[in-house]
Amino acid sequence: MKRISLLLLGTAILFTGCMKETKSDNPFFNEWDTPYEVPPFDKIRAAHYMPAYLNGFAEHKEEIKEIINNPEEPTFDNTIKPFIYSGQLLTRVSRVFGGLNSAHTNDTLQSIQKEIAPLLSKHNDDISLNDSLFDRIRIVYENKEKFNLTSEESKVLEETYSDFVRGGAALPPEDKEVLRKINEELSLLSVQFSQNLLAETNGFKLIIDKEEDLTGLPEGVKAQAASLAKTMGLDNKWVFTLQVPSMTPFLQYSDRRDLREKLFTAYFMKGDNDNENDNKEIIADIARLRLEKAILLGYNNYASYILEKNMAKSPDRVIDFLTQVWNAAIPVTKAEATAQQQMINRENGKFRLEPWDWWYYTEKIRKEKYDLDDELTRPYFKIDNVISGMFYVANRLYNLDFSERTDIPEYHPDVVTFEVSRDGEHVGVLMIDNYPRESKRGGAWCGVYRSQIRDTEGRMITPVVTMVTNSTPPTGDKPALLTPTEAETLFHEFGHALHQLLSNSTFPGFTGTAVPRDFVELPSQIMEHWVFEPEVLKVYAKHYETEEIIPSEIVDKLVKSGQFNTGFATTEFLAAALLDMEYHMLTEPVNLNIREFEKKTLDKYGLIPEIKPRYRSTYFNHIWASGYASGYYSYYWSEMLDADAFQAFKETGDIFNREIASKFEKEILSRGGTGDPLEMYIAFRGKEPGVDALLINRGLK
Ligand SMILES: [Zn+2]
Repeated sequence: MKRISLLLLGTAILFTGCMKETKSDNPFFNEWDTPYEVPPFDKIRAAHYMPAYLNGFAEHKEEIKEIINNPEEPTFDNTIKPFIYSGQLLTRVSRVFGGLNSAHTNDTLQSIQKEIAPLLSKHNDDISLNDSLFDRIRIVYENKEKFNLTSEESKVLEETYSDFVRGGAALPPEDKEVLRKINEELSLLSVQFSQNLLAETNGFKLIIDKEEDLTGLPEGVKAQAASLAKTMGLDNKWVFTLQVPSMTPFLQYSDRRDLREKLFTAYFMKGDNDNENDNKEIIADIARLRLEKAILLGYNNYASYILEKNMAKSPDRVIDFLTQVWNAAIPVTKAEATAQQQMINRENGKFRLEPWDWWYYTEKIRKEKYDLDDELTRPYFKIDNVISGMFYVANRLYNLDFSERTDIPEYHPDVVTFEVSRDGEHVGVLMIDNYPRESKRGGAWCGVYRSQIRDTEGRMITPVVTMVTNSTPPTGDKPALLTPTEAETLFHEFGHALHQLLSNSTFPGFTGTAVPRDFVELPSQIMEHWVFEPEVLKVYAKHYETEEIIPSEIVDKLVKSGQFNTGFATTEFLAAALLDMEYHMLTEPVNLNIREFEKKTLDKYGLIPEIKPRYRSTYFNHIWASGYASGYYSYYWSEMLDADAFQAFKETGDIFNREIASKFEKEILSRGGTGDPLEMYIAFRGKEPGVDALLINRGLK
């Protein structure tokens, strides 16, 4: 799981002027005198959100009324611009609330979320279904030649008009009412889905009280489990949870097949336990309502509605793309399964390989083939070193400097904050929040508390960016020592952060990562290419005790084993991506039986029983609650781009080639959503990418 946008509204973010003069008890009503207007987390209480939201709604409505009541003929400057810049208080509270509700939630925030979701949905609909507002926007759109617009302004006009049409503005009144109802129901169902998921994730613990049950586990893993137990008040016990940094090492190393089964089964049954947190009915309702919405708006299915705005354009194109990769991956995956079964047979196992065995035998084979495992590399991936490694790469490529700041408010002691600058000039603020806790949802993401824009006076507003991960935490006297995958995730989220930090556009909602879903992973995934480059490893991968640089034998092993287990990684991902597409390609309103639908779909494509999809339906937060509906394929679509884009560096023989980097910044990173993604890509690379770059990158060709 990677990025989500914290933007709940596509509206404005402008922190200058028009805040009330008098100080209120509620920080949302005051100007923030913190450095770079970072939210004053220390002063914000749960009780502040609701009044801020309600005032935000009222203020936004007033601004819309002013636009509508303008007696002059609609123009870009008197209609589109004030609309784009409207709703600043609402954006401000939404960002803080959305950010904290994902990274550091509690029961109070969760109940506010439930209360606010239908209100927010109503507010959005009041605007997007407002006839008078749409009329003005339509008139500007139909007369666009008159206004002498820049290309950025044309894009803003185009997108604003299309957002209104896609939001139902052109529907007859009775359909608008139906749409409102659907949107309201959908908003509540998504909230319920993710709250159930958090409860399910926190609801299971594998508690071990006999040391012999830890057989096979490395010392570091045991220590982490003991320290987790201690935080739960359990002395002389070991705890494993369904959070990935806790679960994965157990699946990799535990010799106890029965316990691996128990833990992994609890993981893949999340939301599917027929208890009060069950997500099956919620999913069936979401899928049905999305289809109804798409049909109402004139599309065959929800996927067509969504994909129209993406690079891929149509469901057929996505399925065609995914199938090409699937066909290349399945034979490799089957060979991997066979190798594992052979090892089981050799060891006289007398059982058939099951999903809870995969990690375990993968580790054994990796060890046999490359003499490499995560425990061997962990000491070289101390989290602070990995972070300085990614800063080093950003410095070589984009001349950025990072310095830690301790005078900036934080919402949790785990957060580390940096000021980003270039040639001594302030670029933005970057917060990093790395360790799992019960108040944080799973996965990793990047968002903003303030995005780069130019305000209505043309002044530059710099971004305040946050990256959140769930990485292996420190234990006892040991610092946080990461797996290579976790190091890669940090580089990934950092790529999104750079997209925000190096953004250099104008209009709210069109800067930074405000690009189509299947383009947004290009800036993040391209950063993953640097993480294990020997030239980069030599800079940051130092032993946490001895400072010894990672030995070149280990670097060789890392490079050589880079595509190991590629069949599995590709197949488990694609299974989830196909599941996502199939849910949203339904063209007839059916009452879905989720278990049946999932099984039928995966059987249709021929997923082997030894592998579960990366996300099963009932915990697929991306597509039910995070804006990735018929968009999970995007990671691979973007990989087509990033694999090809990294070649641009490789071809010059210099992975830090400044000329290529500045072209990437100019044509991609700085432009946000102000251009057509394919045109932007071609401007950078001089050609279109193809699926081959991805297949080669994954070792499937
Ligand atoms: Zn991402």
